[in-house]
This record gives sequence, C-alpha cells and structure tokens, in this order.
Amino acid sequence: MALVVMKFGGSSVADAEKIKRVAGRVISKQKEGNKVVVVVSAPGDMTDDLITMAEGVTDAPQDREMDMLLATGEQVSIALLAMAISHMGKKAISLTGPQAGIHADSTHTKARITKIVPTKVKNELKRGNIVIVAGFQGLNPIADITTLGRGGSDLTAVALAAALKADTCEIYTDVEGVYTTDPRVVSDARKIEMISYDEMLEMAGSGAQVMQARSIEVGKKYSVDIHVRSTFSPKEGTIITSEEKIHARRPKMEDVVVSAVTFDRNQAKLSIIDVADKPGTAARLFKELAKVGINVDMIIQSAPQDKANDISITINKADLKKALHALNKVKHELKASDIIYDDNVAKVSVVGVGMRSHPGVAARMFGVLSDESINIDMISTSEIIISCTIKNSEVNKAVAALHKEFGLNK
Ligand code: ADP
Ligand code: ASP
Ligand code: MG
Repeated sequence: MALVVMKFGGSSVADAEKIKRVAGRVISKQKEGNKVVVVVSAPGDMTDDLITMAEGVTDAPQDREMDMLLATGEQVSIALLAMAISHMGKKAISLTGPQAGIHADSTHTKARITKIVPTKVKNELKRGNIVIVAGFQGLNPIADITTLGRGGSDLTAVALAAALKADTCEIYTDVEGVYTTDPRVVSDARKIEMISYDEMLEMAGSGAQVMQARSIEVGKKYSVDIHVRSTFSPKEGTIITSEEKIHARRPKMEDVVVSAVTFDRNQAKLSIIDVADKPGTAARLFKELAKVGINVDMIIQSAPQDKANDISITINKADLKKALHALNKVKHELKASDIIYDDNVAKVSVVGVGMRSHPGVAARMFGVLSDESINIDMISTSEIIISCTIKNSEVNKAVAALHKEFGLNK
C-alpha cells in the first residue's frame, strides 16, 4: 500500500464548500488504495487576519505570543477537514504539529524543523485513519509552539513526506503547477512539466510564492519528488526533482537558457550613510541584524570618500521595523550620519540552469529593462539567477517584457 502526503493551501480550504471538495479528493486518494496523510494551511487569509488582530493591540507583539496566535489558523482547518471526512463516512483524525511529532528550534516565527518523530501519525494510519496534520507549526525544546515562516505548510508537508518515506508528496494549490512566471501577472505564462530543485529554490527565494523556499531545500536533501498541482482540476501539475532525473527525460534541458521570471514586491531597501571605512564595520552591522533573525538579501557598499562609505541592503519588508531598530542601536558606534529606507522597491529575477553554459543573459536582461525605460537600482547574480531591484510600480511591465525576451510565452 503506497503512502501519499497531500498538502492543501489556504485558498483550497477557504470555506465550507472548498473543505468538502478537499475531503472528497482525499477520500478518493484513499479509495485508490493509498494510506493518506494530509497537511493543511489556515483557511483563506486567516493568517494575515490574525496578524492584523495582533497589530490592533500592540505595534510590538512578542514573537512567542505571535506564534501562539498564528498557529491557531491551521488548527481551524484540520478540525474542519476531519469533520468533513467523517461526515462522508471515512475515518479521519486531526493532529497539531506537536502531536504529529514535529520538533523545531526556538526561532519564533521562522523556526526550523529539527526532527520529526511521527509515531502518532503512523499509529493512526495503522488504525485506518486519514491523518490530518496542521501545517506551519512545531514544538521547540522548551515545549512552546513555534511557526515555520510564511508558507511553512509546504515545509511541513515535504519534511513529513521525507520522515515517513512517503511514495508521493503532492502540493495542491490554486494554480495548475509551477509556471514560467506568476500566471496572475502574465496571462500567457506556461506550466512547467518538470523543474530542478535548484531552479525552484531560486524561484522561491526570489518571490515565486507557489512553494516555500525551505521546503525545496528539504526536498532536495531527502530526494523527495514534489508534485505541485491544482486542487480544482485533475490535471497533472509540475514535478520538482533532481537535474539528473530531468536530464534522463529531457536531454536537451540545457538548451533552455532561462526557465522562469520571478518578482518580489515585498522588499525594502535600507542605506546606512557615511559609516567608518575600517575593518569590522560590516561585521558589526550584520551581527546586529543577525541577532534579531533578519535575512539580508542584496548588499552594496559604495566606494569610500573621506574614510566613510554607504552600505545599502535589501530585506523583506515585514522585517523593516525590526531592522531599523537594530541599526539605530549601532548607528553611533559606527559613526553613521543617517539611516534611510525605501519600502517601495521590488526585485525581478531571471532563473535557469542553462545560464551556466550560456553567457550574455545579464546583458539581455539589462537591455530589456533599458528598452522599457526601467531604472535598475541594485544587481545581484549567482550561478543560475540574475536579480535587479527596481521601482515597485514597474514590476508588471518588467516581468512581461523579460518573459517575452526569453521566449517563455505560450
Ligand atoms: P497556497 O495557499 O496553496 O499555499 P500560495 O498563494 O502560497 O498558495 O501560492 C500559489 C500562488 O503563487 C498562485 O496563486 C500564484 O499567483 C503564485 N505564483 C507566483 N509565482 C508563481 C509561479 N511561477 N508559478 C505558479 N504560481 C505562482
Ligand atoms: N498559514 C501560513 C501562512 O499563511 C502557512 C501556509 O499557508 O503555508 O503563511
Ligand atoms: Mg503557500
């Protein structure tokens, strides 16, 4: 009997009708002769709504209490789905992350899974239950609930599939798979049949919301093939797997230079002006940001003038307040004259393993943006991705033009 992990995102369980539809789909999977473990996210926009509720009572909620609050969203979905399945005559049981044996570290709101001890999940499967696990949550070493970062139910699903040695890991969402760019922004974006872990990792890290980046890291580490597909259609979606497996199926994979265009509107740029140009300055600054758990994306240091220079960074917009607080703490020590920020920036990126063997992609990308009269602020490149920071208002134009330039249209 095969074991299948099925994950349903928030839009798939947004209301009673959708929950019943998911229940039907899960039951069909069991009827096909599988043991089924289901991971669900909070219904609809509940996580965002809970964040707004917290902001209503304080502008500096403690991270621990934030996790207590946010973890409730997923609990709503698991209980409702278990009820819906029981109502349709099949046995189901809901489990929180801690009940499912998901252990995590103590970094509240962005915890990492440390281990999974799925004893209860296995026992409930043996009893013939469909086991429904709350995504996005784990238990830290001092028995507090932590959450796994936005989009963290993907991580729960992939990590559970690895721990249970599941035969299949299916991520059900509101689009039919992974596309060459967000199909909501470019209507002739194409569904990708197979994509490598590395490309998907870069896509997720540069804003393609469809999969959480850390879930792909875990998928790659434990060789979990991930099938991203639609909750609302029976069509096959996209398989995220190793380059070797794709190469075996599609030997001409490297002929594709750019596989996808991504964008991230949730960026903020911070500039620390006139910091001392001496050893240790950058180390001090980034240590302060790391202490409060802020991931820095791009970094630019200007050429020194009068023994001082400017350091600019981009971060996730949600971390802006925290970052300003942290930087203000070291402002005097670093002799900075000012700290300025712009939360109206976005990042557009092109991703593809083909870039390793095809030079000139950056030139083409900059050329397209220039033809569209879009000014590039910051640039970063690595082996299979090139990113540019631009104005938020120019994202759609940039993405459409890049998508066309690299031949990704239908
Ligand atoms: P879920 O609630 O199921 O977790 P998400 O909203 O997190 O779903 O992710 C699905 C959304 O990701 C889609 O509705 C789509 O707009 C967006 N998206 C962004 N980039 C891509 C892409 N390249 N391919 C598919 N979807 C994408
Ligand atoms: N509910 C959480 C979020 O909105 C986790 C998830 O949806 O994967 O980020
Ligand atoms: Mg998601």
